Amino acid sequence: MNEAIAGRCRCGAIGYAFSSPPTLKHMCCCRDCQYFTGADRVFVIGGARETFELLHGEPSTYAVIADSGATIIRAFCGACGTSLFIYPEIDGGYYRSEDDVIEACVGTLDDPNAFSPDFAVFVSRAPKWATFPDGLPLHD
Ligand SMILES: [Zn+2]
Ligand SMILES: [Zn+2]
Repeated sequence: MNEAIAGRCRCGAIGYAFSSPPTLKHMCCCRDCQYFTGADRVFVIGGARETFELLHGEPSTYAVIADSGATIIRAFCGACGTSLFIYPEIDGGYYRSEDDVIEACVGTLDDPNAFSPDFAVFVSRAPKWATFPDGLPLHD
């Protein structure tokens, strides 16, 4: 398993890994992501559920209704508070989504340098002082 795509929370109670490189790399500036991170955006990598493995620990979760109308689960470490995963709740499933993607916060990777963002979404929700890399595709 590639060490660059493993990660954990700050206290180490929760560890995870992707068995193949995540296919989705982006930043999201929606209000839910702002609350999740306490910042102006979240930066996540997303991979197919089959490639994701929770190595140890059990995240705490809460559910929010996204602008799309979907119920989104946000997972964090109940011990240290690190924001970890975002995934739609489908059929009560855990770590599943309609396209079987689970997103992990890049700051929790063992090597956060391993990935850079391909695009940004919900940029209209970002604070006016938010800045974005030159040339990065921006979507509302
Ligand atoms: Zn923790
Ligand atoms: Zn978001």
